[in-house]
Amino acid sequence: MTRSVFTLPSMDLGMDTHTTKRALDTEAVHAGRDDLAGQGLHAPPIDLSTTYPSYDSRGEADRIDAFATTGAEPDGPPVYGRLGNPTVARFETALARLEGTESAVAFASGMAALSAVLLVRGSAGLRHVVAVRPLYGCSDHLLTAGLLGSEVTWTDPAGVADALRPDTGLVLVESPANPTLAEIDLRAVAHACGSVPLLVDNTFATPVLQRPAEHGARLVLHSATKYLGGHGDVLAGVVACDEELAGRLRQVRFATGGVLHPLAGYLLLRGLSTLPVRVRAASASAAELARRLAADPRVARVHYPRIGGAMVSFEVHGDPHRVIGGVRLITPAVSLGSVDSLIQHPASISHRIVDADDRRNAGVSDRLLRLSVGLEDVEDLWADLDGALGERAGTTARPEALAQG
Ligand SMILES: *Cc1c(COP(=O)(O)O)cnc(C)c1O
Repeated sequence: MTRSVFTLPSMDLGMDTHTTKRALDTEAVHAGRDDLAGQGLHAPPIDLSTTYPSYDSRGEADRIDAFATTGAEPDGPPVYGRLGNPTVARFETALARLEGTESAVAFASGMAALSAVLLVRGSAGLRHVVAVRPLYGCSDHLLTAGLLGSEVTWTDPAGVADALRPDTGLVLVESPANPTLAEIDLRAVAHACGSVPLLVDNTFATPVLQRPAEHGARLVLHSATKYLGGHGDVLAGVVACDEELAGRLRQVRFATGGVLHPLAGYLLLRGLSTLPVRVRAASASAAELARRLAADPRVARVHYPRIGGAMVSFEVHGDPHRVIGGVRLITPAVSLGSVDSLIQHPASISHRIVDADDRRNAGVSDRLLRLSVGLEDVEDLWADLDGALGERAGTTARPEALAQG
């Protein structure tokens, strides 16, 4: 029996790896796996245990007390699956490395991750949230409905400083935003936040294109269901942040139970290893499709972010529902970030839960379609879009239709 079988991988990520700065592509395939060779392994093991034997209950009591104080991952053997899991910890370690943060805490979904952040701040008496629209529809709903006792002030990026109150616990933005791909100057917003933590939902950009912590964000949230998993078969969320906030998030996760399953942790770690190549390849196709859509007379407006990415949103002159009904290769479905392309109509689906006026005021037109570009050949994707867009009324190229996200 080797010691490392019972050791959380985060503790084996020794000084050697923390002191050497490695490029993102290298971290993507090595982070969270540094102890494997020493264990005589190549693929990471999946630990499905819900509980762990302990013949030293005095020691266990001390470790539980320590967790209750700081939320730090208990030293030594794991205790119980809701407190932490070694396979999930590998994914957390790797994601923290990619985002350039001290720690990361994984949850059962992106919404469970956001809920935990709101509970951490709310339980500290800081229930007020300042947020910028648009946000993902359910994030908007969670704040607007005040389900977790929070109160939201919606503003634009320039209004953040003025919207802060003594009880403001969080500023929340998405950039590029779901579904308009609107971009925010993160450094400027982080500055406007002062001492209030800024949470950036980095689901669309991924750490390949943008690392918000480098711009002053204290919390970086992902729906890992999207690009991090990357294959449409894992539901997950994660928050990358400093160890102090991570401790609070682990305590809330332990108390409320929104844990990530170890198999999902395994699949996410595996997903991270191809994240840079997937994002770059899909982004190249997305940029090409954005160019062609912008020059197409059937398209009124194209949204494509300055930082690039694999998402393209566009407004059609005709009926957006006909485009959804007309695709054959691209799958008409909610969600995004998979190896295959997906398209959906935000006003009907992803942002349906947002009040129609709020949605339109946030720039989500009823004619907007959101396309998640996958790894198919770009000519096949264009042929499918071309067919779904229907008859061409004219052939005048309109390159000015390419609007910045
Ligand atoms: C999908 C999504 C979420 C919610 O994540 P789930 O994993 O579905 O709970 C949050 N933010 C953004 C930007 C999303 O696209």
